Amino acid sequence: MKIAMIGTGYVGLTSGACLAKIGHRVICVDSDTRKIEMLKRGEIPIYEPGLKEIVAENVQENRLSFVTDIKSAVRESEVCFIAVGTPPLETGEPDLTNVEKVVREIATSMDGYRLIVEKSTVPVQTGKWIKKTVERYNQANIPFDVASNPEFLREGSAVNDFLHPDRIVIGVETTRARDIMIEIYRPINSPVIVTDIESAELIKHASNAFLALKISFANALAVICEAAGADVRLVVDGMGMDKRIGRAFLDAGVGYGGFCFPKDLKAFIHIAEELGYDFQLLKEVEKINEEAKQRFVRKIRKALWNLKGKNIGIWGLAFKPNTDDMRYAPSIDIIKALLAEGALVRAYDPQAMKNARKFLPDIEYCDNALDVAVDADLLAVLTEWEEFKKIDLREIKSRMRLPIICDGRNIFDPETVRKQGLTYIGIGRGQD
Ligand code: NAD
Repeated sequence: MKIAMIGTGYVGLTSGACLAKIGHRVICVDSDTRKIEMLKRGEIPIYEPGLKEIVAENVQENRLSFVTDIKSAVRESEVCFIAVGTPPLETGEPDLTNVEKVVREIATSMDGYRLIVEKSTVPVQTGKWIKKTVERYNQANIPFDVASNPEFLREGSAVNDFLHPDRIVIGVETTRARDIMIEIYRPINSPVIVTDIESAELIKHASNAFLALKISFANALAVICEAAGADVRLVVDGMGMDKRIGRAFLDAGVGYGGFCFPKDLKAFIHIAEELGYDFQLLKEVEKINEEAKQRFVRKIRKALWNLKGKNIGIWGLAFKPNTDDMRYAPSIDIIKALLAEGALVRAYDPQAMKNARKFLPDIEYCDNALDVAVDADLLAVLTEWEEFKKIDLREIKSRMRLPIICDGRNIFDPETVRKQGLTYIGIGRGQD
């Protein structure tokens, strides 16, 4: 199948490369000339394990190419995926101007039947708007279909998630569109659920909202655990063994972040309101998430009394491990709050420091995790990178001014840390 993937970010590049890997001929399009030039030189603009190799292999096999010109890509492809960003506006609703812009360009470029697939995360009923927009701009009345094919990949394991998804969701209106979508994904051995377009759109928002809800549930539970002297990790382990609940996404910490959960939750609350429903449950999920960050800063303050002039070391900046993505990372709000109180912040992240400089220009960046500990009054863990779990805590202690670890991701066993002579403060692990 000949495919145009419009928008070559985390989702578009991974999806385009993986669709090429399973045998399709994919043209990845992006309006960002610098990004396309990098990709043409064989450089990958993001950190995503395994992606570089797949891109190189498929460029070599002439199944994958990169362009900035949508028109030519649309003319050469039967299927046009839209994978541009849908960032949040001040109101919480997603900014769909780029989706609309791309749709207009597809409508005015197509010279025969096209299947237009929304891959970006969009509110329910966006498919209807896409259809209406194509009808308005497609003067020659060329036949087309719209499909919804939400993406569930996670940054950090995006390639594997794309090639081995739990399910493939296809929202369509015609059998022609359904047959094309099924043909595209035939080489992937995962269950396929075919729905109407609105249901497919809702599956994505509802799934992300539910996962965020699980995280906030764990964070609320952590507060109770601290007050009652229980350990939230043991509580969620016990809960998670129940198949009806499941253990995933039940880790208490400094809250969720990233390009998806915060904005998708806001968008879902907003579209629900437009449809006449006040989704208070999800507003509470957001509130608990904000509180998780504030509580963490309070823990640091409680441990150090005044923060002015104190050296705080930070392990991890990315919103989660195995990614360089800093968008809406909890580290941004937490570090800004520490800086506002006069603390001096030194940080290390294995992959995200380049991106972090744009969000946090006023902190010192270190070359490794050990350097962060030098003269620190407290060390805060904000991202659960594997390398932090393996560090020799005695080495850390010898470098620190005060041996205090504030573990915002519960990566350490409190007793083990305390045995090494450090003060341990976790999230929801008995009284601090
Ligand atoms: P991104 O910002 O990494 O990539 C979007 C790309 O679209 C950018 O490279 C940008 O230059 C390009 N673009 C914007 N306007 C364009 C235009 N008019 N023409 C051509 N290119 C244009 O974003 P992302 O993380 O890949 O997310 C894309 C969509 O997928 C969003 O709706 C997001 O919610 C959704 N999604 C993201 C993830 C994730 O983990 N990042 C997972 C599932 C779904």
